[in-house]
Amino acid sequence: MQQPPDDRPHLRDIPADRLAASLAAAGFERADALAHRLGIAVHRDGALTWDDLGLAGIGRFVRASLSERFRFGPLLEVVGEREADDMHTRKWMLRLRTGEVVEAVAIRHWADHTLCVSTQAGCAMACGFCATGRLGLQRNLSPGEITEAVVHAQRAIGARITDIVFMGMGEPLHNFDATIAACVNLNHASGHGIARKRITISTSGLVREIRRMTAEGMRWRMHVSLHSAIQETRERIMPIARTNPLPDLVAAVRERQQALGTDAKWVTFQYVALPGVNMDDRHVDALGRELEGVRYILNVIPWNETDGPFRAPGWDEVKDFTTRLRRLGCPVKVRYSAGKQDGMGCGQLAAETIAVTPREGHMIAPPGIFTSHTG
Ligand code: SAH
Ligand code: SF4
Repeated sequence: MQQPPDDRPHLRDIPADRLAASLAAAGFERADALAHRLGIAVHRDGALTWDDLGLAGIGRFVRASLSERFRFGPLLEVVGEREADDMHTRKWMLRLRTGEVVEAVAIRHWADHTLCVSTQAGCAMACGFCATGRLGLQRNLSPGEITEAVVHAQRAIGARITDIVFMGMGEPLHNFDATIAACVNLNHASGHGIARKRITISTSGLVREIRRMTAEGMRWRMHVSLHSAIQETRERIMPIARTNPLPDLVAAVRERQQALGTDAKWVTFQYVALPGVNMDDRHVDALGRELEGVRYILNVIPWNETDGPFRAPGWDEVKDFTTRLRRLGCPVKVRYSAGKQDGMGCGQLAAETIAVTPREGHMIAPPGIFTSHTG
């Protein structure tokens, strides 16, 4: 017999600032206190099952009542794990219950552990230099699907994730509500409790959504993927630039900087370095001209090899480019993607995903490529 559709919300999907109201509406007494305990158990303590919630001190009767109104259980299955040769970078392939696979990458710097999370399976933005863009959009992730990656990563590394970057698969602002709910649950005192300034959304520059964040007073840190200050070049490598033209994008960033004051004192522009495309003097001058009046840091990301009509820059080319960028007077950083030799760098998330998506089973990748998950 076919099961009726299950419309109970999943506990990990509910924004932590609304959980108490959901519990009160469902008739639970002392909803505030219960929401706090439950939020900590689900998020910070990383419960994945009803039994885990029991171990975290949520009693049997409460769990029975909760299960009438809410769903709980793992939303992701770890289907692959890999560690880069640098020993500081680990990647997990995480399968959604509907079969699509997304990836998360953890990078360790001393005692800090940064997790790069995905917000969509695939991406609709189709940037020519990015492997995820080649997949097209498969589907949006829910808030719980975004944040459960943190739980699996913490179990595997045996340490807390201290920083989150929304730089995995997908365009976070194209899945706006789920991304913001995920930020809330990562940051909230009844959630993961990660400091707001340690959570960074990276966007390819969706103007309407950037303005919405400003209008609604959302103070999440934001990086903007600029890649060129010349409209034609930007359009060529990022189709999204056609509907989000450069002057509007820069204006939206400027408005946000003015509205948020110290919380957006600096905006980071990411700039994927593509020889023969966006590194000549014309592009350097355009940055100076178009970004006039914005306080920005330029984060140069040497292109990581994926398919596409591009070439990865050599060290000398990057050095020469950053030397010429000095005339802009802004801080310039170069991001050497951790784990890029092992397919874990920016924009490389997808190739293996395609390899694991279609079939059923656990370890589908060729032996020796992934180590099995033991967390
Ligand atoms: N969709 C968001 C966040 C994910 S990508 C965005 O585009 O901002 C994170 C960063 O990696 C972005 O700046 C993106 O442009 C960059 N990137 C994508 N593919 C890359 C590649 N092959 N090499 C280097 N950087 C890449
Ligand atoms: Fe999507 Fe970002 Fe890749 Fe562009 S760079 S296709 S926005 S994930």
